[in-house]
Amino acid sequence: MSTKIKCPFCGGIGKDPFNLLSKTSQCQVCNGLGAVEIDVPFRVCVFCSGTGKNPLGARVPCIVCKGKGNYVITGDDICVKCIGTGRAADGLPCTVCKGTGYN
Ligand SMILES: [Zn+2]
Ligand SMILES: [Zn+2]
Ligand SMILES: [Zn+2]
Repeated sequence: MSTKIKCPFCGGIGKDPFNLLSKTSQCQVCNGLGAVEIDVPFRVCVFCSGTGKNPLGARVPCIVCKGKGNYVITGDDICVKCIGTGRAADGLPCTVCKGTGYN
């Protein structure tokens, strides 16, 4: 089962939020639709705090949730390595939980 949520990367406007190519270029996450489909159940991405944007500074979609701001739940146990933050010491996604904060 899946549902549609507003694309957090572009805020639902369907345009590239960073105008990387041109002002009219489509959002690469939702392909200009302003919404993305995601399987349920899902939870807010801890790595980007639901923004869908890569928190490491690059103007690209979050590498953990692929820009959707949420990801499909694959486990319910808080990752003991990163204690649920999804981050390793260097700020990159935790290698154990792959940035999801859970296993
Ligand atoms: Zn979008
Ligand atoms: Zn994310
Ligand atoms: Zn972890």
